Amino acid sequence: MEDIRKKSRDTQCVHASLMEDANGAVVPPIYQTSTFKFRDADHGASLFTGREKGYIYTRMANPTVEGVENAVAVLEGGYGGVGCASGMAALHLAFASILKAGDHVICSESVYGPVVGLLNTQFANFGIEVSFVDTSDLDAVKAAITEKTTLVHVETPGNPTLVVSDLAAVAKIAHDNGAKMTVDNTFMSPILQRPLEYGADIVIHSMTKFLNGHADVVAGMVVVKDEEAYGHMRRMSNAIGGTIDPFNSFLVARGIKTLAIRIQRHCESGPKVAAFLDAHPKVEKVMYPGLESDPGHDVHAKQADGPGGLISFELTGGLEAGKVFMNSVKMCVLAVSLGGVETLIQHPASMTHASMGPEVRKQAGITDGLVRISVGIEDVTEIIADLEQGLEKV
Ligand SMILES: *Cc1c(COP(=O)(O)O)cnc(C)c1O
Repeated sequence: MEDIRKKSRDTQCVHASLMEDANGAVVPPIYQTSTFKFRDADHGASLFTGREKGYIYTRMANPTVEGVENAVAVLEGGYGGVGCASGMAALHLAFASILKAGDHVICSESVYGPVVGLLNTQFANFGIEVSFVDTSDLDAVKAAITEKTTLVHVETPGNPTLVVSDLAAVAKIAHDNGAKMTVDNTFMSPILQRPLEYGADIVIHSMTKFLNGHADVVAGMVVVKDEEAYGHMRRMSNAIGGTIDPFNSFLVARGIKTLAIRIQRHCESGPKVAAFLDAHPKVEKVMYPGLESDPGHDVHAKQADGPGGLISFELTGGLEAGKVFMNSVKMCVLAVSLGGVETLIQHPASMTHASMGPEVRKQAGITDGLVRISVGIEDVTEIIADLEQGLEKV
């Protein structure tokens, strides 16, 4: 294969995780081994000093893991990726690679729920302060900066309100103040949005979602810009130890081969479902950057290549109506997570964002009546028909 980095993303999805195999296997084998044999004592010693390249131990590096790491790094336009056991492990690794006692973090207030706990509880125990800010409001980001701010963490569109933050503008504010910017790109995948191009220092994925795409793996990835950052991240990962395993790496690499065409379908069906909901009398509000009326529409269109498949909406009847609706859908599955081939529906206030607490939820605009839907790749008329019969019951 010629330089994979010069290929289109459709081609990268298919080829970027493949590597040469001694037996000519088109799909490389799963290196399901914890450790690698040295030729002799000198060989082992020279691998440890880095004089020679090669595999030592799977927590440090493994060929199957490298396949998926290369694929995501290539798609994001980064120097390298570090595979993690989950999206949360990837966030933890990225934050731990930057933060030290006394630092201050600015974090999008509309953010994956458990990130609030990670920063507010676990990192707070190490003397790190955090401000949750509406990062779609650049003045609010500027106002939250302190002398101690070393990290600005952004999710755009944010989970679950789909609020859109301007990546380039937030990166500039962070960098002007000597802070780094991390972006959780889970909702978009690199097919739709590549935050490094807009100034982000580190990109994080829950590969559990679109990258794997089949709701059968929990995994994460951290992508960095340059060799130095990669070396630092790799050492941190080796020390913390929350690494991905070969089998899950194989599954995610397989999922990524169809990422571009799956995303294409999500982006065709998402707007149709959003338009249906928007026109429905029992729906009060739809949050989806693909809708022209959405406050984040223009900024999103500037930095992303499509609207994606995540939609949040509020029913006029609030929480009670939402419960009846969720209990009435027949094909759509009532479950948390997102980005899989099947359409999933969930209720953030009582599920994914329950641990945030009512105060933070209120501040972030996550009302009790909010329902989030991850539009799958089923026939969109059948998705809409299911939602319609569910709304009739309300
Ligand atoms: C799911 C999710 C995570 C956490 O990922 P896990 O793989 O479940 O640990 C982080 N960020 C976003 C935006 C997510 O949707």
